[in-house]
Amino acid sequence: MPALSTAAASASKAPAARPRRHRPATGPVPDFDVVIIGAGSAGLSAALVLGRCLRRVLVCDGGAPRNAPSPAVQGFLTRDGTKPAQLLELGLHELERYTTVEVRTTRVTAIVRHGKQFELTAEGETGRSRTFTTRKILLATGVEDELPPLEGMREFWGSGVLHCPYCHGWEVRDQPLAVYGQGKTVTGLALLVSRWSRDVVVCTDGPGNLTANARRRLRLQGIQVREEPITRLQASADSGLELVFETGQLLARRAVFLHAHQHQRTNLAEQTGCRLTSKGAVWVDKNNQTSQPGIYAAGDTTPGTQQAILAAAQGAQAAICLNEQLTREECPK
Ligand SMILES: Cc1cc2nc3c(=O)[nH]c(=O)nc-3n(C[C@H](O)[C@H](O)[C@H](O)COP(=O)(O)OP(=O)(O)OC[C@H]3O[C@@H](n4cnc5c(N)ncnc54)[C@H](O)[C@@H]3O)c2cc1C
Repeated sequence: MPALSTAAASASKAPAARPRRHRPATGPVPDFDVVIIGAGSAGLSAALVLGRCLRRVLVCDGGAPRNAPSPAVQGFLTRDGTKPAQLLELGLHELERYTTVEVRTTRVTAIVRHGKQFELTAEGETGRSRTFTTRKILLATGVEDELPPLEGMREFWGSGVLHCPYCHGWEVRDQPLAVYGQGKTVTGLALLVSRWSRDVVVCTDGPGNLTANARRRLRLQGIQVREEPITRLQASADSGLELVFETGQLLARRAVFLHAHQHQRTNLAEQTGCRLTSKGAVWVDKNNQTSQPGIYAAGDTTPGTQQAILAAAQGAQAAICLNEQLTREECPK
């Protein structure tokens, strides 16, 4: 038998081999430690942190982010004004060096729990379904906005029809603005928007359901209320767009703000029995864990203020909580 080299000889005297990375204590090893569903700001940020923890991660990229119709992501430190697609491309590029992270263009359609693991089914671009297993799941699937059924709303969504003054108020500051909606919601939004412009008109498209106090508060800020029904929004060479009232009158505005209703982009949270809040968001605890053990959520899908940088922060937070929970499970007491 040939003599062992010095290095090999000393290795043979080393204490019993220890696993290089933590592994689940028992049971079959699943394909991934974490599957992240959604490759927006929340999902990619979580993938970055988990990649840096050497976790085996699959990111399922099911398509465009919520802000796809918008020309730019505003208010994201160091990326203010970047195109939405470019922000995500930069994120995907940063993930390339983390070899334990895989990104697939695929849409998750089903999740089944098997004890402490999950089996996911996902449909790729060709329509072919595949299944894989994971220890934990992060839902970063975002929401979808429901626009009022008014001609032109969808066409101008993200450019002239805006959802948030924090995201877009600065770009339309000091210009003629409208705020669309009724009741308390339109009152609050109009008062907020009046921070960016002194020319704000509330358009309620029929009875505004405004209390006397709401009307007084609007009047004090110089905000006019128009309750005539609206037939459509149309392009205007001078101002950007105009609202066309049923009376035939036109109101030229640079932008219309509205508070759109929204719903979850997928039914995966419901399918897996995750608790939803009264507003339809996925409830999470302070560790970003849903009511279902092993399923975490981050970004717009959860309650709270919706901004790309906040979604990224929540993704990072969820990733840290996931890694710490996995570590606890791997290191017996
Ligand atoms: C018009 C508009 C403009 C905006 N502008 C700004 C702005 O300027 N600044 C700002 O900070 N915020 C802005 N926002 C808000 C911002 O878009 C969101 O806060 C942010 O995108 C939330 O990130 P997220 O990762 O939670 O969700 P998303 O960015 O919506 O990403 C969710 C991802 O999950 C994917 N997905 C969904 N279901 C599945 C599935 N079953 N399988 C696989 N993938 C799936 C979706 O395709 C999507 O890519 C804007 C929003 C809108 C609507």
